[in-house]
Amino acid sequence: MEQTFVMVKPDGVKRGLIGPIITRFEQKGFVLAAIQLRSIDRALAERHYGELKEKPFFGELVQYLTSGPVCAMIWQGEHAVENARSIIGKTNPVEAAPGTIRGDFALDIAGNIVHGSDSLASAEREIELFFGGAVAASAPVHLVAGTVVQH
Ligand code: UDP
Repeated sequence: MEQTFVMVKPDGVKRGLIGPIITRFEQKGFVLAAIQLRSIDRALAERHYGELKEKPFFGELVQYLTSGPVCAMIWQGEHAVENARSIIGKTNPVEAAPGTIRGDFALDIAGNIVHGSDSLASAEREIELFFGGAVAASAPVHLVAGTVVQH
């Protein structure tokens, strides 16, 4: 079953939106395979958004992502990557349709509260980066001192 990487960004965590975002994914029919509440250092932020490093907003983006804890998750389901992007909504909340997460909860592109992988290849890369590889949805997962332990 396809898996995708989703992250509630620091502004989403600060605003208490982890719950509503998880609810949207559960209501859509996704199964939660793994979850971590963690902070991101500069190196991880730069790797995660590596393909945007030439963009003028890259510095601000890295600062934004490292400004507080994030909630990183692996969600599983049919067409997980595309379905997650569809409930998250367009990158710019101004263009994100009402009913999508960004359309309902965010105002500004620089604070769009949530990330979702944009392709299967990105999902695999990001899951590897944050969780060290795919995690079976039925397997209990514990985070011990920053390392995912799967039983
Ligand atoms: N971003 C920004 N300004 C822009 C475009 C993007 O601050 O003009 C930020 C925004 O947080 C966005 C992230 O960079 O979510 C990654 O951009 P991307 O184009 O990959 O959009 P996404 O995949 O997040 O929808």
